[in-house]
Amino acid sequence: MPDGSRQSPASTPSAADVAPAIAEVLHAQRSFFAAGNTLPQRAREEVLRAFLSAVEHHESQIIEALAEDMGRSSTEAYLSEVGYVTGEIRNAIKSLGGWMRPKRMLAPLAAAPSLSMLVPQPLGMTLIVAPWNYPVQLALAPLVGAVAAGNVCVLKPSELAPASSAVVKAIVDMAFDPKWVAAIEGGVETSQALLEHRWDHIFFTGGTEVGRIYAKAGAEHLSRVTLELGGKSPTIVTQSADLDVAAKRIAWGKWFNVGQTCIAPDYILAHRSIRKELVEKIGAAVASFYGEDPQKSEDYGRIINDRHFARIAELIDADKVAFGGKTDASDRYIAPTVLTDVTHDDKVMGQEIFGPVLPVLDYDSMDDVLAHVSKNPNPLALYLFTTDSADETFVLDRISFGGGCINNTLMHFSDHKLPFGGVGSSGLGAYHGQHSFEAFSHKKGVLKTGNFLDPSVKYPPYDDGKRRILRKLVH
Ligand code: NAD
Repeated sequence: MPDGSRQSPASTPSAADVAPAIAEVLHAQRSFFAAGNTLPQRAREEVLRAFLSAVEHHESQIIEALAEDMGRSSTEAYLSEVGYVTGEIRNAIKSLGGWMRPKRMLAPLAAAPSLSMLVPQPLGMTLIVAPWNYPVQLALAPLVGAVAAGNVCVLKPSELAPASSAVVKAIVDMAFDPKWVAAIEGGVETSQALLEHRWDHIFFTGGTEVGRIYAKAGAEHLSRVTLELGGKSPTIVTQSADLDVAAKRIAWGKWFNVGQTCIAPDYILAHRSIRKELVEKIGAAVASFYGEDPQKSEDYGRIINDRHFARIAELIDADKVAFGGKTDASDRYIAPTVLTDVTHDDKVMGQEIFGPVLPVLDYDSMDDVLAHVSKNPNPLALYLFTTDSADETFVLDRISFGGGCINNTLMHFSDHKLPFGGVGSSGLGAYHGQHSFEAFSHKKGVLKTGNFLDPSVKYPPYDDGKRRILRKLVH
């Protein structure tokens, strides 16, 4: 798994440098929130519209920054960053009234004449800390929820994608009064300085080990936390799968952003009877996407930095390469690579790959599948390719995972209606669409009772008649 022991770029300010600026922003945001400025629906809609215009205004800068940071193709950059974020903002503007409206429900008879209500309330001071792999989307998509829910927010983009971090800051500066939302750039020292403060909610996306630091900071101040973490996401291909379709969808999901996707297929569990054919078809799909030399393809990006390049290159065991395997350090290029005859003793199975290497393990029965997946429990995503409903039921019933697809990869992420998040070591909480609004709200449970009737049955002194009625009412 990408570890947290990284060095910040030399230009990154120290904690002492950033502390006064952070304190100033927080002071201003606290007063702004306390004065109720973020509460009216109209104010939230206006600021979301300004947010939308700022993202649209910076579309070409976003695409250029992603090319600079990781050689991302413009099509991928539009789909996964610009288009995704603008879709989330539009959906929030359209749905905000409904999300903000208290949900009314019938109260129990014992409380008659009453209505129960769920009243959403902003949490207050929120912190979003983002990773580098989708550096715009993973900073700005949670911000949609934070703002829609009526919070003030400090956003810390990733220092490892510096060009994208600068564009995120430019967007935030253009759209928001810093009393409402401020972007503070910087590295680990800045993150640590931010964690010195008490937040009402911390929304962290990144590696599992660094996630523990945020969970501890939340525990220290009793802040709510959402943790969007990583892990090893299995892709199971059964003997009944449509292999032509599976190969293309797996290849697309794996090598989108060169495998630097938290929900990329990390490894394949292939039924032994179809493994050879599946690997050949994946090879054919890769050639049809990126040509015979993916290094020359405009649609195939690069590894984010030298440290990750060296880490991923080390995971390639030359004796197990079925196709690919080429690396070029001067270009931070690693070819789409499939490894076969892999076991859990191989280095590639000991960490989240987060790169373009795809190990394939064979299985013979669904019990084997369970045993394999249990070695890295609670994956963030799971993909199952099958046409057998018994296998589908087995996987859905028996395996715990954050979310996933049947006969597809990555696409569950694109549906605003589905909560996106992990479970156990892959995360805590979820977001996207209304789930983002809820992640950044407290739902107050309120019971409202009419004054026109006040049955005396619940008041002492009790007798057998009252007791009989009360026992029935509380059932
Ligand atoms: P990371 O955990 O190293 O860094 C994420 C953020 O945490 C950065 O902004 C960084 O400044 C901050 N940070 C790093 N070390 C810190 C420390 N010691 N103290 C305080 N803050 C610190 O993650 P990354 O390398 O940027 O991203 C890759 C990881 O993120 C992968 O494990 C991937 O699976 C995961 N990820 C998860 C999701 C998801 O939605 N669940 C999405 C993308 C990435």
